[in-house]
Amino acid sequence: MRGSRRCLRIAALLGLVATLSSCMTLSLREEKQLGDRSAVELAKNLHFVRDRWIVHYVDEIGRQILAAAGPQPFEYHFNVVEDDELNAFALPAGYVYIHTGVILAAENVSELAGVIAHEVGHVVERHVARNYNRQRNTGLVYNVLAVAASIFVGGYAASGGQLLGQLAAVAYVNRFTREAEMEADSFAVAVLPRAGYDPNGLVTFFAKLETKSGAHVPTFLSSHPPTPERMEHAAALIAGLDLPEGLRVTDNGELEIIQRRIELLTGQAAR
Ligand code: ZN
Repeated sequence: MRGSRRCLRIAALLGLVATLSSCMTLSLREEKQLGDRSAVELAKNLHFVRDRWIVHYVDEIGRQILAAAGPQPFEYHFNVVEDDELNAFALPAGYVYIHTGVILAAENVSELAGVIAHEVGHVVERHVARNYNRQRNTGLVYNVLAVAASIFVGGYAASGGQLLGQLAAVAYVNRFTREAEMEADSFAVAVLPRAGYDPNGLVTFFAKLETKSGAHVPTFLSSHPPTPERMEHAAALIAGLDLPEGLRVTDNGELEIIQRRIELLTGQAAR
């Protein structure tokens, strides 16, 4: 009891420090170092799908989105993580991770493209780099990133030494989450039509998350603004667009082939 109260005080203090300290944007070089290091660390805890068809499929969608986004300062890496959790996330400097759970849950390619575009949006908008606090020492930032990633990934077991980092991560992530999520959604809605995809896929995927979040709340949602709010926001943005004819919703059964392949390789079932 006393311990948990102390933890709350530490969290409050960290939150205050985070608020009071000015945020500075990392240089591109610093951001790349941070992204590279975090990706190496994260890779130790993830199980990647190596099947070249599946990886190529996701990578292709990512490349189309990037081509529509214009020149980028980072090299992008689209990873497929074997995990049935409805989740996706990104690290600074171009590291994007899509769970097999998301691919299996997608009803059509526009939904999957919506999720990928959202994650690319976090990188393009440089959300971590823009909210980086130089006053934090490297160790803490490193810890924060690792924990922030674990929060998105789930299944993080905090040990005593990591508790401080975990608390700091919560304060850190919450500080810019809402604005960052809306910004990543805005990026997705704008870039998807340019990449040839119907941006409504993002909205229908939100609807899917909402109906599936009963007993099992996806971690994709837990640190984000509420899904209905994001749906409304994205739908309003789409309503303001003059969408061209012929935007892709499906891809001639390609997604279904990839889903069957994932089911065969991982034993997971499509939802
Ligand atoms: Zn997000």
